[in-house]
Order: sequence, then C-alpha cells, then structure tokens
Amino acid sequence: MGRIALILLPLLILLGCAKAPITGRTQIIMLSPDQEMALGLQTEEEIFKTEKVSRDPKYTVPVERVGKRIAAATRMDLDWKFYVIENDKVPNAFCLANGHVFVYTGLFKYIDNDAQLATVMAHEIAHAIAHHVAERLSVAQLTGLAAAVATDIAARNGGEYSQLYQAAIGIGSQVGVMLPYSRMQESEADHIGLIIMAMACYDPREALKFWEKFSKAGKEPIVYFSTHPTSKSRIEQLKKLMPEALKEYRQCEVHVP
Ligand SMILES: [Zn+2]
Repeated sequence: MGRIALILLPLLILLGCAKAPITGRTQIIMLSPDQEMALGLQTEEEIFKTEKVSRDPKYTVPVERVGKRIAAATRMDLDWKFYVIENDKVPNAFCLANGHVFVYTGLFKYIDNDAQLATVMAHEIAHAIAHHVAERLSVAQLTGLAAAVATDIAARNGGEYSQLYQAAIGIGSQVGVMLPYSRMQESEADHIGLIIMAMACYDPREALKFWEKFSKAGKEPIVYFSTHPTSKSRIEQLKKLMPEALKEYRQCEVHVP
C-alpha cells in the first residue's frame, strides 16, 4: 500500500478530488462526464444486442413510477431512462453511468410494493451518481489493472453478474485492491440508496424487509455475488443508518405506499 499511496498522493493533488454524494467520501475520478456518458451508451448497445426489452405495463409502469421519483430525489441531471428486461431467471437490476436503469422481470418475485422496488433501484442509481464505474476504472489505471476492468466493461451484458466480471474482479482481488474497493462501493451504494429512497418519500424500513426476505428465501441473489456484503452485514449497516433515513422520510409531506 505504501507504494500506491506514493503514486496516488501527487495525482490526487493534480486531479483535484471528487466527492461522493450523501457520504461525502473523497474519490479519484479520472474520466470526464463525456467519457462516462460514452461508456454508458457503449454498454447499452451491448445489452440491447442480447436482452429483450419488456413492454408489459405490469412491470414498466411501476419501474417508471419509482424510477422517476428516485431520479428526482437525486437532484442530478442525468439522461434518466427506465427499461425492463424480459428475463424471469435473474433477480437483477443495474444503472449505467448515463442514468439508464434496467430492471429484470425476475426481480419482481421478491417485490411486494413500490418501496421495495425503490430499495433496489435506489441502490443501483446510487452506483451511477457516485460514479462507481469511473472510479473503479480510475483506480484500475492507477494500479495497472486497466486491462482487467476493460474486459469487465466489454463483457458486461447484464450488469453486475457476468462471469467475466467476476473473473476481472478476481484478478484484481489478487492484488488486494479491487475487491475491497468494490465492497466499499457496495456498502456505499446501500448507504446512498437508503437515504435517496427516503428522500423520495419511500419508507426506508421496507429496505430491511426486502433484504431479510431475500436472505430467508435462500436466494442470495446473483446480483450480490462475492464482492457484495453478506446479507447480515448489509442489514446491520442499514439498521445503523435507519435513524438518518427516517429523519429524511419524516420530512415528506406525503408518504408513498
Ligand atoms: Zn451493487
């Protein structure tokens, strides 16, 4: 770590520091907003080649309804778009750097209400507004892992769960940088997501219900593979953040069911 710190320090000063929303964590982002947009669009092209977009209002209506509320709560001007992917097998969702959000029909088996859908969508949107992909690429560049992450970006046709993605992270973890990084990003996405859902006036306590139900179903979801926190540590973190989230939620004049 000493060597990395030595490389990072002057760069941090040169580049200036970005700050993650809500958590205020200092980040190194070496990609421009335009590069992030281009990356999002490039990934999207790949997704549309292999995945089928659903037009079923049973899914598209709640995804639009919840997505728009969450997006408004971020107060960030991304090119927000919401897609449903027809795939009952995977309980997956993700948000690209350009603000395009994808929810798989397979997730709906675990969703009882809008607040639980908001739990997942706010987590994914949190990854985007905290520039997590750009940050990971930047760290990879700095640690000589650009190739591994580039493979990941090219390979991900389904967001957070492709095998190649896991492999890329695996390579990174050997050097001991990327794995802690993505764990940290995951718990940060949980943190930001919980606060944002509450700011969008969804009851943050539904996030606990959702994660508890998920782990009880024995369906440790594919979305949350090894780099994701265990459901136990995730739930513990959410409980700790609950007072902060409830404070936001109680400022809402109208609570969303
Ligand atoms: Zn995540």
